Amino acid sequence: MSEKGILVVVSGFAGSGKGTLMKTLVNQYKNYALSISATTRNPRPGEVDGREYFFKTTEEFEAMIAQEEFIEYAQYVNHYYGTPREYVESQLSAGKDVILEIEMQGALQVKEKFPETLLLFVTPPSVEILYKRLTGRGTEDKETIALRMARAKEEAKIMEQYDYLIVNDKLEECVITMHAIIQGEHARAFRKKELINTIREGFVCFSEGE
Ligand code: 5GP
Repeated sequence: MSEKGILVVVSGFAGSGKGTLMKTLVNQYKNYALSISATTRNPRPGEVDGREYFFKTTEEFEAMIAQEEFIEYAQYVNHYYGTPREYVESQLSAGKDVILEIEMQGALQVKEKFPETLLLFVTPPSVEILYKRLTGRGTEDKETIALRMARAKEEAKIMEQYDYLIVNDKLEECVITMHAIIQGEHARAFRKKELINTIREGFVCFSEGE
């Protein structure tokens, strides 16, 4: 039987560059499936429904909540965001490592429901760089940027609840680090229950055959 995939949650401040990081990781290595969230925020220029997000009205989103279609959902800067359950479960069963790129409230909900989740937090090297990236992409107005900076300040208070902090300085290095962490995670003893059982059974047969 093939091993089940790992559920990997990646969070990071708005402007941390985690979106680009995740896309590069998924393109570069085969075994990842990137979950696509639903949201009630408007698409940014260039965003496509079903690719970056499933864009929903508030009514549609609330109906999905009622039908328990989400693994988790949260409100972030006046909008709903949520992770559809079906894709995540089917990809994990198929042995893929499934990546959820979600904010902290959602991340902590996932960890509570699925304690074996790996939590990664991506941060730029400094707050100055964060602010420059956020203003530099030119997709948000001043008020939204202020709200996102305020949210980032709050998020900084619970960064240590994550398993790993990844500094996003150079994209390529960061992708390699993230891949190495996830691969290392596969070797953790608590994820190797089948192998442990096989080895123990092997010992039983061995001593019986003596
Ligand atoms: P953005 O509007 O910049 O695309 O995303 C805003 C924040 O929402 C980011 O921190 C992003 O990681 C988070 N986010 C995206 N999808 C989800 C989701 O399905 N659930 C939760 N809890 N957060 C999400």
